Amino acid sequence: MKHLIAISAPSGSGKTTLCKALQEVMPEIEWSVSYTTRERRSIETNGVDYNFISSDEFEELILEEHLAEWENVHGFYYGTSKSILENAISNGRMLLLEMDVKGSMRIKKLYPEDTFSIFIIPPSIGHLRERLIKRGTDSEKRIEIRLQRFQQEMEYKVRFDHVMINEDLDVAKTELIEIVNELKEGVLNGT
Ligand code: 5GP
Repeated sequence: MKHLIAISAPSGSGKTTLCKALQEVMPEIEWSVSYTTRERRSIETNGVDYNFISSDEFEELILEEHLAEWENVHGFYYGTSKSILENAISNGRMLLLEMDVKGSMRIKKLYPEDTFSIFIIPPSIGHLRERLIKRGTDSEKRIEIRLQRFQQEMEYKVRFDHVMINEDLDVAKTELIEIVNELKEGVLNGT
């Protein structure tokens, strides 16, 4: 069984909604709570969505080698605790990781036997812009930065174990749940 499911997608592609839907159906799957220096959005809870920390605290985590991987995304630090990953593997539990493409590739490289990577594509860049505007959490400038990054992230999709399109949320939910079920039962294994 693959213990680590690394999910990447350009932000605003519906990845968070999909991951939450998956957790509702399979509550036994844990969620890796990343550290970030980004400011907390009003709908987010510290310790649940992210551990929100200062840049100084983040740099200390890097120095102490507490992180399995970290990235500077859109000008903020994001990183994953090494111990959360290693506990999941040694306790035989499944852990969901939501991270940028480089993060997923890094986890795959560090834990090749234990990682299955999934890339979620939004139907089009037009849709993505619309979703980001609707979400209302980013300024116009931030949205443009995120869209530029979208083009770069799309180049990584061939390196993932599975690529899916979030054209219709219900279809995508079913697809994701099926994949994870197959991983759990050992039907699907990835490379
Ligand atoms: P957001 O600010 O929209 O929550 O996240 C921005 C980007 O950072 C998203 O692509 C998200 O998946 C990514 N991200 C979140 N946590 C981590 C992490 O621990 N490591 C890496 N490499 N990326 C992360």
